[in-house]
Amino acid sequence: MFPLPDLLGLEFKTIQAMVKIYCKAFHNTDNVIGKECTECRDFLIYANEKLDRCPYGQAKPTCNNCPIHCYKPQQREQARRIMRYAGPRMLLKHPILAIRHLRAEKRAVPSNIPEHASNRHKRKHRIDIKQQ
Ligand SMILES: [Zn+2]
Repeated sequence: MFPLPDLLGLEFKTIQAMVKIYCKAFHNTDNVIGKECTECRDFLIYANEKLDRCPYGQAKPTCNNCPIHCYKPQQREQARRIMRYAGPRMLLKHPILAIRHLRAEKRAVPSNIPEHASNRHKRKHRIDIKQQ
């Protein structure tokens, strides 16, 4: 999986936490860190790649508010199932991540898609995002 800094990293951490809650409840996995089932692991790899490629980069709106629907139908449905179950449970299990996400939902969606802003682009061109 690709390393995702800052806001993208936080978003990935949130997804990981939700997948863990969901996987434990429905796939009977042990609550060992990083031990999701194969299906959930594949989903996380997919989500990680989508975040890496998100054209908004660090200005990314939350997926819920995003005008681009970049997930394929199958993964989209999977995401919906995971969020529906784990979303409300996040407040109890990971209140800080949950609150930060709720706050992010209120951020304005950028009016246009920035150029060369994706994490993937920066990674490939070795642009240090800390310098910006
Ligand atoms: Zn699972």
